[in-house]
Amino acid sequence: MRPFAYVKPADVTAAVRAVATEPRAKFLGGGTNLVDLMREGIERPDTVVDVTGLPLDTVEELPGGGLRIGALVRNSALAADPRVLARYPLLSQALLAGASAQLRNMATVGGNLLQRTRCPYFYDAAAACNKREPGAGCDALEGFNRGSAILGVSESCIATHPSDMSVALAALDAVVEARSVRGTRRIPLTDFHRLPGDNPEIETELALDELITAVELPAAPVAARSRYRKVRDRASYAFALVSVAAALEVRDGAVTEVRLALGGVAPKPWRAREAERILLGGPATEAEFRRAAEAELAPATVRPANAFKVNLARATIVATLRELTTGGEDG
Ligand code: SF4
Repeated sequence: MRPFAYVKPADVTAAVRAVATEPRAKFLGGGTNLVDLMREGIERPDTVVDVTGLPLDTVEELPGGGLRIGALVRNSALAADPRVLARYPLLSQALLAGASAQLRNMATVGGNLLQRTRCPYFYDAAAACNKREPGAGCDALEGFNRGSAILGVSESCIATHPSDMSVALAALDAVVEARSVRGTRRIPLTDFHRLPGDNPEIETELALDELITAVELPAAPVAARSRYRKVRDRASYAFALVSVAAALEVRDGAVTEVRLALGGVAPKPWRAREAERILLGGPATEAEFRRAAEAELAPATVRPANAFKVNLARATIVATLRELTTGGEDG
């Protein structure tokens, strides 16, 4: 690992100032994989600004029934928060699906949002990777791509986003609060992560000198009936092949409100707007769930090794919506 300066500011103002004056500085918070990336020589900051001691670790009520979650709230604490369990159970389930208990105790909300892809070529200095080295090419296109994305991809990059938590937040219309020396701004979670296009090295809308300070969850009564379902190769500590975050309200057999987001299939948490559009107001039937899933997945770009994700995603969407309709677990 290259030598670097280390600072541990006492408050948020000092933290954003430290980054503003050091152009090659990086924030270090629990749950990012910054240290791994520094060991591999992929990240080379001159200064590491350790934000783990900042007072950003509380969950507060918002007027109207929402929650404001400090960026340093641990994933384990958030998953167990009674308000999250009652109002946003899909978020608790996504956090519990996301990592081992030890990692959840260390990982923070802000760090989780900034996790980088687990595409194996990104971590292999001998491989061509546009995300690590812009313009180098992408070995995943013709290489090992069983886990790669099928929606929102480009010829530059087909990597998936690894965070389970972010998929639940996308379904919940969460808003990311970010602070810099220029002030505070709020970014909808669904706009926070970027698709790769020609610049897969730029993964979020966050400026280099901005610190995530909180995530806000608006009130969402529909989310009291919600589910996060993750399909993976191993029962624990594996990244999703496909995941579904869903909330559904049905009255007199018709869908009156629906939230749907997908993980494991795209370079960012994927809000399934087309499926939601089809489902809203229609009959809450399995045929309609399948029709909505197929419409969402119609633009998929697949390769032989990851083509199975289309059927897997469709089946997982249908099973999750069916479960929310019937109240039981199946599929
Ligand atoms: Fe790199 Fe993206 Fe290609 Fe993986 S898919 S090798 S992260 S450019």
